[in-house]
This record gives sequence, C-alpha cells and structure tokens, in this order.
Amino acid sequence: MGNLDIRNLRKEFADGDSSIVAVDDLNIDVKDGEFIVFVGPSGCGKSTTLRCIAGLELPTSGTILLNDDDITNQNATNRDMAMVFQNYALYPHMTARENMSFGLRMGTDLPKNEINERVQNTAEMMGIEELLEKRPGELSGGQQQRVALGRSIVREPEVFLMDEPLSNLDAKLRTTMRTELQELQQRLGVTTIYVTHDQTEAMTMGDRVAILNDGRLQQIGTPLECYHEPANEFVAGFIGSPSMNFIDVSVRSETGELVHDRFTYPLSAETQSLITDAGASDRLTLGIRPEDIRVIPEETDSSFPVTVQVVEPLGEVSYVYFDLGGEESYTVSVDGDVLIDEGSTVHIEFPEDKIHLFDGRTGEAIK
Ligand code: ATP
Repeated sequence: MGNLDIRNLRKEFADGDSSIVAVDDLNIDVKDGEFIVFVGPSGCGKSTTLRCIAGLELPTSGTILLNDDDITNQNATNRDMAMVFQNYALYPHMTARENMSFGLRMGTDLPKNEINERVQNTAEMMGIEELLEKRPGELSGGQQQRVALGRSIVREPEVFLMDEPLSNLDAKLRTTMRTELQELQQRLGVTTIYVTHDQTEAMTMGDRVAILNDGRLQQIGTPLECYHEPANEFVAGFIGSPSMNFIDVSVRSETGELVHDRFTYPLSAETQSLITDAGASDRLTLGIRPEDIRVIPEETDSSFPVTVQVVEPLGEVSYVYFDLGGEESYTVSVDGDVLIDEGSTVHIEFPEDKIHLFDGRTGEAIK
C-alpha cells in the first residue's frame, strides 16, 4: 500500500536576514498505485516537495502521512521509498548487478540468494540482463538510467520518487523511456511521484498532474482536466503547446459584449451570467488556444481581420503569427496544407465554446 497524504506542507529556506518560501501550504492526496506528476517552472518548489517526502529535507511545518502513519520527521532510510535522480547516482566502481543489489545487501537482512533472484528478475523484466556485469562507465545514458530504475525496483518500495529522471537523455530516447516507465509503473502498481518541468512529459505520463508555481499548488487533476478546464491563467498558459493566447478585453455590460480595440465579441447569456456570478472586474483576459482559432476565407459577423506577420510551416501544422495593434504577438495553428502568405490579411473567429475567460485582476478562471 502506498497512500501518501501531504497536508499543509511548508518549507522555508533561510536567505540572509529573510527567508525563501519554497513550498507554501501544499495539500495533495496521492492514492495507492497512482502516478502523479509534479510540474511547474524552475524554482516552483517541485524538488523541495519531493525531498520533503523522501526525508531529505525537514518541512518547516505541515504533515506527511504514508498509509496514515505520520512520517514527517522519520529518517529517510526508514521510509519505504526509492528515489530516482536525473544523474542516475550509480556507484562508478560497481557493476550494474552490484549497484542494483547494494541497497538490499546493506539495508536489509534478505538472504543472498533472494537478493540475487530479485536482481535477476528485475533485470529480465527491464531487458538489461546483458548489462549486469558492466560498470556505469561502459553504459550509455539510457542504459545507466535503466540500471538506476532497476536498483529502485529491486527494493520493492511503497513509493517511487523520481526527480527529472529522463532529462539527461536525448529527445528520442526520452520519448521511448517515457512509455517504458509508464508501462513499468502500471505493471508494478507502485505509487509514483514524478517531478518534471516539461509539460509534455506531465501531460503524457501522469494519471494526475499537480501544477505548481511559486511554491503553491495551482491545480491538480487529470491532464485533460487541466488542459480543458484550467483553474487560472497560469495553468492555462503553462499547459498546451504552443501556449494559449491571452488578450486583454473589457466587458460592456449594457450590450453583453467583450470589447477590444480591434473587435467586439458578443457573449451568450450563459457566459454573461458566469461573469456576473464570478463578481469579476470589468477587465478580463480572453484566452484561446492556437488550435481553437478558426481562420476563414471571408469576413462574417463573428470574424475580424488580422494581418499575418510570420508563418512557420512545420509540416503537419503551420503556426501563423499575427498582432492586434500592440506589441504582443498571437498564434494560430492551421493545417499544414493551408497556404497563408506572410503580410496577407486573414479573417479569424473565436468559437464561443472554445474561449476561456479569466478575471483580469486575479487571473482566476471564470469560464
Ligand atoms: P528546478 O526545476 O529548477 O529544480 P524546482 O521547482 O524543483 O526547480 P526547488 O529546487 O524546489 O524548485 O526550489 C524552490 C525554491 O527554493 C527556489 O527559489 C530555490 O532557490 C530555493 N531553494 C531550494 N533549495 C534550497 C536550499 N537548500 N537553500 C536555499 N534555497 C533553496
């Protein structure tokens, strides 16, 4: 069993006379067997949270429970968790077999033959039997990471903690290893917390994704929930590639329209009441994903013209960039075989079921 309950976790680091709040009132409940990804920009507190769970950092306040036992102050070596690091952290003078068995030889009373059997079974499962007699220096990055993973698997922990384990691998291998890791996790059914700053990794790997910024949890949900129903502007901009477009607008409540210098946007009664119910200010941010903007050949009642600045053809899709009179550039993603010239005028439309609205002051989602 690996139920992990993180309650009101806070971690401050001293910084001269003041302090840095690395983790701020974090609450996350990880279910047994779940694969949770912590994702967020550099410095948002992902690694610190993971290190508190591992017992490598002592929280300033808050509680960490493993299967209802309070482990907040328990020594790292007594926690039934295995950590996998970005730099593999293998012992260079030991063979892969010795690296994999080391934790069991030193930290348990398991008989030698059982240790050997576990290492052998794990190596078979991971397809690394032929690497067992090699030292880390003789292995590629991907092979070293497989051995490092194998080393944590043989311990049969209740929780795997992984801190950017694939970031030292090249792009192709990273994609392969993502799938392998996911399959492995499903097969083993071991609760896993995986830290990354890469939103694609988060979206493709996690059962649920916890998005952090400035030490605070912004949203936790399935990847698709976070994509379709972002809780705030930060999440909306962080999840999805290319990023969601954000356009500052004001609300003209007499007519129920959003107003921008370049366009007015009539809102349905339903959306108008969402804005009223949210008690939002009259400045809103309209969010629309590049793939949700429609490019149409001719002007209609709901479209408006923009001038194309740059077109980036990527094959399957093209990114078309335009401005709305200001400094800001916006992106539309169109089918790769649609031909659009730089400098030309196109008409674009924002389907109402695809637009997001955020309070201009707080960034909280309204729709
Ligand atoms: P990255 O992806 O860059 O590793 P992160 O999201 O994992 O970032 P943390 O490493 O958890 O972020 O850091 C959160 C904040 O705490 C940062 O401002 C960082 O500078 C600070 N911090 C982390 N460890 C320490 C430490 N040992 N002493 C002082 N400040 C620290």
